[in-house]
Amino acid sequence: MITPRIREAALRLGDVPAYVYDLPALHEHASGVRQALPGIELYYAVKANPAAELLQTLAEHVDGFEVSSGGEHAHVSALLPGKPLALGGPGKTDAELRLPCHRLHVESPNELRRLLATGREADVLLRLNPDLPVEGAALTMSGPFGMDEAGVRECLPLFTDRVRLRGLHSHLASGLDAPSLLRLAGTLLDTEHDEVNLGGGMAVSYASPESRFDWRAYGAGLAALRRAGQRVRVEPGRALTAYCGYYVTKVVDVKRVRGEAYAIVLGGTHHLRTPVTKGHDQPFTVLPTGDGPALTDEPVTVVGQLCTPKDVFARKIVTSVRVGDTVVFEMAGAYAWNISHHDFLMHPKPGFHYLRD
Ligand SMILES: *Cc1c(COP(=O)(O)O)cnc(C)c1O
Repeated sequence: MITPRIREAALRLGDVPAYVYDLPALHEHASGVRQALPGIELYYAVKANPAAELLQTLAEHVDGFEVSSGGEHAHVSALLPGKPLALGGPGKTDAELRLPCHRLHVESPNELRRLLATGREADVLLRLNPDLPVEGAALTMSGPFGMDEAGVRECLPLFTDRVRLRGLHSHLASGLDAPSLLRLAGTLLDTEHDEVNLGGGMAVSYASPESRFDWRAYGAGLAALRRAGQRVRVEPGRALTAYCGYYVTKVVDVKRVRGEAYAIVLGGTHHLRTPVTKGHDQPFTVLPTGDGPALTDEPVTVVGQLCTPKDVFARKIVTSVRVGDTVVFEMAGAYAWNISHHDFLMHPKPGFHYLRD
């Protein structure tokens, strides 16, 4: 289901494929998230989508930005000077450890030693990788991220009056609903730490775009769990920007191969890799702009122009589609263009349109 604003914009576009971003919708969504989290600091995880127009729209609603590389740090600092930054990410170089930031998320005891060796001042959160069950997660952050309790104990005596321990950071999993995130938050907030960054990972359902993460329940839950004076921060990425982006394209061919019906669209997953990386069907709407050969009311697999069987947007979705029709893929605002392999096959790049009213 797309809004009238997106339908009109998609029909007005000249060249496709193109990304269309609904900035007023992002503004409204971010404002709702902000209001649902009273007393909680809200950062945006830039890696979900670093487009300048999105960051500028989010800036008035968030307290800061979480950046995970020197590149993201330079990009956000230039665009929004003075906005607080939390710098995280595994494998930081010495140059990255020297970058000015409001909070530095340290990922290992050795990284802390390298930070101390730079001689800079820093306010540190230790990234804990806790041994907690995360049922229902789309992606869990076990493995090399952060440190276990032994790693945290190793770090504690190393702090100085220049490199100060402020608290804990944890980013546990991706795709969790509010009750699951609150269970994890309960464990992390029930510690002696006065500052806790609970990470991101709020669920986004590509199978049912209308069912949204319950920010109000999460905010109320955090308010109940938080100790007086405890500083609590969250840093969502996907759940802030996924809904405001659309990838618009056109059908160039329809066919049936060994009984299976295919619609081939301009562009492909080198522009929108999300359905391949997540293994889902990307939700879409067909606008009847075509007058070519048709597939009618039957299961259709929608693919792009790449010469690989992986170039699939959605499998066996019952729909009607003709050559020349416009296809609007929804939920393409996060981990979409910026995670895709743009140069594979050297097709043209998509256009980018930012709707402002
Ligand atoms: C990726 C990431 C986030 C954002 O995760 P989402 O699932 O997009 O909300 C937040 N914090 C850290 C440390 C991350 O690596």
